[in-house]
Amino acid sequence: MIGRSWLDKAALLLVLSNMLALTSIPAAFSVEEGWLRVEDEHFIVYYQSGYKDDALKVLQYADQARQIVLAFIPYEVDGKVKIYIYPGPSTTESGWYITYGHMSADYMRKSIYLIAPSEALKQSSYYDDIWHKKNVIHEYVHVVVGNLIYEKLKRYKGNYLPRWFDEGIAEYAGIFLSNDPRIKEKYSSELKKIEDLVKNGKGFFMIVASNVYYGGAYLVYFLHDVYGQEPIMNLFTKSYPDFYTALERETGKSLRELEVDWLKWACNKFNVNFSQVYEEISQTIKTTVTLSETITKTLTEKVKLTEIHIAIKTVYTTSIITKTTSTTKTLTETKTRYQTETTKILGETFSVTSIALATTLIMGLCLLVTLTLLIRKRRK
Ligand SMILES: [Zn+2]
Repeated sequence: MIGRSWLDKAALLLVLSNMLALTSIPAAFSVEEGWLRVEDEHFIVYYQSGYKDDALKVLQYADQARQIVLAFIPYEVDGKVKIYIYPGPSTTESGWYITYGHMSADYMRKSIYLIAPSEALKQSSYYDDIWHKKNVIHEYVHVVVGNLIYEKLKRYKGNYLPRWFDEGIAEYAGIFLSNDPRIKEKYSSELKKIEDLVKNGKGFFMIVASNVYYGGAYLVYFLHDVYGQEPIMNLFTKSYPDFYTALERETGKSLRELEVDWLKWACNKFNVNFSQVYEEISQTIKTTVTLSETITKTLTEKVKLTEIHIAIKTVYTTSIITKTTSTTKTLTETKTRYQTETTKILGETFSVTSIALATTLIMGLCLLVTLTLLIRKRRK
């Protein structure tokens, strides 16, 4: 019973702390100070003085985005989505830095952040209305998908979806589901890169997926087109151990089969001969496998070589050390002996010199005495 009441208290504490954590989230509303706002039924757009036209334009894009996304992912975010328009590069309430050419979403805050379209356009003509229209859809998808996964699966989007799918679904809606043909036109060169991969026999699923935005967009396009809307919705609402298991179960295909299906779809889309390209793809896969096996083999051999190398090095180093030690020893001995001998020789040299000096001195004295005596004799 004691244990039970202790557990109850712990549970109560946990609930209370969760409530506190939840109530602390709206504290971010302090951001509202100094902001002007324009809103409708689904969005609140915050902007700075002088940017009302930008705010109205973005609100219009947001409403269009909501319509487009709703037809694809039938889910409404609880409450109004907030959009913050900054006059220039800024750090958002989420702590992210946004600059020209960046737009970001914080799905937990149900917020989207961007720089005023009129200011972005001054920086580059690339950030035009089409760019903004597409990216508002993109960020709105992140908000919807993030909230859906969090609500239904109790998971964070970033921990569940692979990047190609996360960015791919946002980009797919932004480019392919938009009713504005200028968007597809603007991104045609990026989309062409994916088409070229398929045409050149490199349209392998994971190669395409490595281009998370445009490759991802085509992969989601394929999934939507071939398997329909329901499996895609189920990826966000049905509980599976991981995303790829969910993908296999919802499409009823293994990843290997999905890869073939994708390729057939892509070949049809880009007007490419499937059997020819698939042959090339199979060849590429085979080559890749062989290459990776060769690399592994080489690496194994290299490891062996390294081991041998280390062994040789050790023996070599030991012998060098031994040799060096003995040589040093010999050298030291020689040095000591040399020094002793030098001292001895120096000592001997010194004694010889002193005898010579003494002799010279005595001889000199004798000579002096003799000379003195001779001089005296003459005077007499
Ligand atoms: Zn994104």
